[in-house]
Order: sequence, then structure tokens, then C-alpha cells
Amino acid sequence: MSDRDATISRLGINRREFMKFCTATATAMGLSASAAPRIAAAVTSSKRPPVIWLHGQECTGCTESLLRPSHPTLDNLILDLISLDYHETLCAGAGHQAEHFLHESVKQNKGKFILVVEGAIPVKDGGVYCQIAGKPILETVKELGPQAAAVIAIGSCASWGGIQSAPPNPTGAVGVPEVLKDIPVITIPGCPPHPQNFLSTVIHFLTFNKLPALDEKGRPTFAYGRLIHENCERRPHFDAGRFATSFGGEGHRKGYCLFKLGCKGPITHANCPSQLFCEVGSGAWPVGTGHPCFGCTEQAVGFKVPQFTQAHILHPTPGATPPPTGGEKPSGLTTGGAAVAGAAVGVALGASMMAGKKAAESDDGE
Ligand code: SF4
Repeated sequence: MSDRDATISRLGINRREFMKFCTATATAMGLSASAAPRIAAAVTSSKRPPVIWLHGQECTGCTESLLRPSHPTLDNLILDLISLDYHETLCAGAGHQAEHFLHESVKQNKGKFILVVEGAIPVKDGGVYCQIAGKPILETVKELGPQAAAVIAIGSCASWGGIQSAPPNPTGAVGVPEVLKDIPVITIPGCPPHPQNFLSTVIHFLTFNKLPALDEKGRPTFAYGRLIHENCERRPHFDAGRFATSFGGEGHRKGYCLFKLGCKGPITHANCPSQLFCEVGSGAWPVGTGHPCFGCTEQAVGFKVPQFTQAHILHPTPGATPPPTGGEKPSGLTTGGAAVAGAAVGVALGASMMAGKKAAESDDGE
């Protein structure tokens, strides 16, 4: 049996479903479907990168999200794709035995392992507020980071401190990039992050032997390149100035925009509206279920700006779906059609600015 057949068999899916997954992963990474065969080869390779997974100050929600999707393929793939040498929650061993695994793996895989850190790192008082095996996590991260092939900070806590760093931040909690200032750290923020974003990042590294394109905060641009507000299904309501102003009120029941309830979608970059969560279909993400986005993937927004504070729309952007243009249905790109399309973008941008202005000025959206 080939490596590929063995992997597919372990996953309990057929070849068609497997290739569909590889194509979807290519698309999620912003690549064309032609990258799917290379992704399939990397995913089914017998060379699995060793992964050392550390826990700092956190709730283990990132691990839970990663390993407990409703559909088993994703967690199987994650565990099949990597060799999880050390993970404090999942380790079969404990105490000295677990510590032995950690040090052995680092010694044998120097320069080859992927270091994943989940949770914030407290730096106050020498990092005494989070210790494993009697050693501050601060020291462990500083020691292992430079020896890794790549460092991934998973979740908002590891990316920039998360809830632990909320004022008054008694333990001096910071993210991994603050601790490892001299080496690149990939951040995959979210509370929790979407498992596919982690998986796609690892697959990109395995397939192309390099990190994906990152933004200035270390986030893969394929997942965090767009504002939530650009792809939100409630966006037509925002553009039309229809806002929910109370939970359970008429506007809320009708699915109107949640901007006035403090939605941070206009200032938060993430692909939540398109990835959705738990593989249960449309609407399965916070805004889809009627809760305003609280900005967990954006540094200095989630856990820092109060939930019901309205976002300032600094850079109005058109929505992904142009608003209706008086019943006109463009057919093909004629000169007139191009004019309509151009006008639609203008209308969207104008509507966005007007809706923001209207929301700021009035409080009677319902
Ligand atoms: Fe969606 Fe929030 Fe933007 Fe409204 S403000 S369109 S609910 S992201």
C-alpha cells in the first residue's frame, strides 16, 4: 500500500473526498486548485514533522477546538500530518517521563521541529506565574524557540496575551512574539482559532518548505487578509442603515447588522464568515448566531476594547457582494455593464461610509 493510500485509509475517507479536501485547502490558502496534487503529496508523505506543543497561561480551548471538530477528518489529519512528540494535555506519560520525551525530541530534532505555543507568557517577576517542571514557561520558550524550524503562536493568548493581558495584567502576560523578538513567529489568533487555519499553515510549510505570506502582526494573509466586515452576511443591512439596537429586539430578530451592539467586524481581520465553525453549515459563527464580533483575532481589540463600545470605521471598504442596483441585472461585461459594476463599487463604498455615519449619528436603527 502506498503512503497516500495508507493515509487515506487511516482517515476513513475515500480518494475523492481526500482530493476535495486538498483542493479546499489550496483555495483556503489563496492558491489555485492546481496546487492540490502538491498538497496531497505533502500531506501523505511518510516524513512527518516533529511538533513540540507547549502550554502557557490559557484554557486549552485552542487544543479542544483543534481536536474536537464535529467531523473527524480534521483532527485525524492534524494528528496524521505531524508527529506530536510533546503536548502537555495529550501526553501519555507524566512527570519526569514527559520531561524526558521533551528533551529527547529537542536533542534529536534540532532545527527540524515545529514549536507550537498555546497560551500567554507571563514575564513579570521572572515569569514565576506559569511554571512547568519547576521552570518558568518564559525560559522554556526562550530556550526552544531558536532551535525550532518554525514557531507558531496558536490562539489570541499566545499571539499577544489574550485575556491574561487584559488590564491590569497582573502577571505581565505577553504573546510569544514579544518573547522571541529576533525570530519570525507565525501568529494564528482567535479564541479559539479556526482549526483549518492552523492546518493550512502547517500544510503550506510542508508543501512549499517556507512560511506563508504574513502580515505585520505575523498572521497568514490567506486567513487574516480581509476584514470580517467585508464578507459578513449582515453587510447589506449595514449598507442600508438597518441596525439591531437590542438583543431580542425587532432588528435583532430580523438579522440586522450588529454594529450598534458593539460589533468589531469593521476593525477585525479574519476569515470567520467564510470558514464558519463546527462544520454544521451556514450561520455557524458568532455574528451568524446573533452575537457581535468581539475582535478576538485583532491585537488591542479583543479583551481590550469593551464589548459594547462601537467600532470606529477608519477605512470604509466595499462589501464582497455589491448592493442591488435598482433591479438591473448585468449580463456579460459590456461597456454599460462595466459602468454598472464600477458604479456598484462606488455605491458600496458610499453606502458603507453613509451607514457608518448614520449609525454614529442616530440611535433608532430599528
Ligand atoms: Fe457584520 Fe458586524 Fe459589519 Fe454589521 S458591523 S456588517 S454585523 S461585521
